[in-house]
Amino acid sequence: MLKTRSCGELNAEDVGSRVTLAGWVDRRRDHGGLIFIDLRDREGVVQVVFNPELSTQCHEVASQVRSEYVVRVSGEVARRPPGTENTKLPTGEVEVIADDVEILNQSKTPPFYINEDAEVEESLRLKYRYLDLRRERMKQNLLLRHRAVKFMRDFLDARGFIEIETPILIKSTPEGARDYLVPSRVYPGKFYALPQSPQQLKQLLMVAGMERYFQIAKCFRDEDTRADRQPEFTQLDLEMSFIEKEDILNLMEELFISLVEALKIGKRVTKPFLRLTYADAMERYGTDKPDLRFGLEIADLTDIAVQTDFSVFRSAIAQGGEVKGICAPGQLGLTRHQLEEMRQVAQTAGARGLLTISLGDTGGSLSDLTMDMVKSVAAKFLSLDQVRSMAERLGAKPGDILLIVADKPEVASTTLGELRREIGRRFKLADPDMLAFAYVCDFPLLRWDGELGRWQSEHHPFTAPRPEDMPLLDTAPEKVRGEHYDLVCNGYEVGGGSLRIHVAELQRKVFRLLGYSDADSAERFGHLLEAFEYGAPPHGGIAIGIDRLVMLLAGEETIREVIAFPKNQSAVDMTFNAPSPVAREQLAELHLRVEEE
Ligand code: ASP
Repeated sequence: MLKTRSCGELNAEDVGSRVTLAGWVDRRRDHGGLIFIDLRDREGVVQVVFNPELSTQCHEVASQVRSEYVVRVSGEVARRPPGTENTKLPTGEVEVIADDVEILNQSKTPPFYINEDAEVEESLRLKYRYLDLRRERMKQNLLLRHRAVKFMRDFLDARGFIEIETPILIKSTPEGARDYLVPSRVYPGKFYALPQSPQQLKQLLMVAGMERYFQIAKCFRDEDTRADRQPEFTQLDLEMSFIEKEDILNLMEELFISLVEALKIGKRVTKPFLRLTYADAMERYGTDKPDLRFGLEIADLTDIAVQTDFSVFRSAIAQGGEVKGICAPGQLGLTRHQLEEMRQVAQTAGARGLLTISLGDTGGSLSDLTMDMVKSVAAKFLSLDQVRSMAERLGAKPGDILLIVADKPEVASTTLGELRREIGRRFKLADPDMLAFAYVCDFPLLRWDGELGRWQSEHHPFTAPRPEDMPLLDTAPEKVRGEHYDLVCNGYEVGGGSLRIHVAELQRKVFRLLGYSDADSAERFGHLLEAFEYGAPPHGGIAIGIDRLVMLLAGEETIREVIAFPKNQSAVDMTFNAPSPVAREQLAELHLRVEEE
């Protein structure tokens, strides 16, 4: 080894010992006589002192080094002179008195400061990712990710799971996105697909009798780049045989509660995990991935609204719509400008409009409310009683503002869901140190795709229908609930899974409902259907998005902050500059020709 110890591990106990360190120059301070170098390696930073009276040669070398030079230093660990300790630094009680130094490599001036957590444009960070990762915050994120994944592996190993790798070059597996394709050189015109997840492979492993499988699996989905997605991402993927839904839910709950405790990151977890049905989540929070760190629940006001003289309400209801609202507490003090922004949010979410009713502040209760305290464009069409009933239903008091949407039921719900999220975000209603995990269950098995004119799987085609809903498959498919569960946390879906179909005939039936002919299913899923004929055990599983989970654990805003080499928001790898053109010969070998634009 070029070094005997790590910079960051030195402390008072090492005083008097001789060490050789190697790392990067975090900072150099020249105090005329003495030169101080903060030397950094992965474990941290320690101060190194170069005294010209001790060694002119060392002092001379130290005067040449610049930030990010790679150096090797030997010397004795000494206690810092009283009054010069740095309590902010774990090594702050000591310093190394250098008597030997060697420059291992030089560095150009980096395009941004490594030793500061300053805001740097993301494209620059991604281009120089290897420098960005030298920064403390990013290093901590990668360490946290490592510790989290290691914990998962050990946890599952201790419970009889075995880690099995599955191939990356396979055949299309439907998870609702486009596949990435890999052309075959050997078989002209044929393609492998990169797995959207190891779904069918893990099911085959259950047929193979593995009983408990897991994998830290790469998944590939060619989706339109929107929000915070990556073309490739990592899942904790697992599957179990001979289990019930509760077994999986409990296992994951135990995993995450113990994970967060073990990581010691100062976050609290809601225990036990909350449970919501899909219908409940949509009804109360307007989304299937609610942030449960704050209340602000949606309530249905249709029965009150229908009695008013407000034509917007009445016509929406007459057309089969609903009137729903949430209450923005008075202490949030929404300014007129903010209300305008809320209106924008509502419009973007697809609502025709947003009605606001502010209840003037009397400091008293709702019974003190009078009509001249009520401010709203609809005020003259509402009676005091009607305003009071709506306020009561939304848990409002004088001083609060009611936000109301009258629209098609799904539009009203999702719009209020968006407004709720926006208010929560802007007014910081959510405790940043809390992880509010919840399971959302009882999703519909199928969703009608109006554009394609056929049923789509809500989860994926391998999800089992709820046994009691089975007869509805023939009569009312929209009413069939799936044995599907999502794990959500703080407004994000962090995972999802289901009990699976393990009987070929039922699987064929679901494929038929999804519009595949028997010949189609045989061609695409023949391997699975056939496997089910050879004693497939009942099984189920789940997959957790590791990027998203670590993002939440790290308190970061995007998954790019917890991925070593992410693509940017346009799916471009800025470090390698991929995708990129390839040579004509390479294309020819693959039997491909690129059409000129
Ligand atoms: N393969 C599923 C997914 O990627 C997870 C599962 O059902 O286990 O969402």
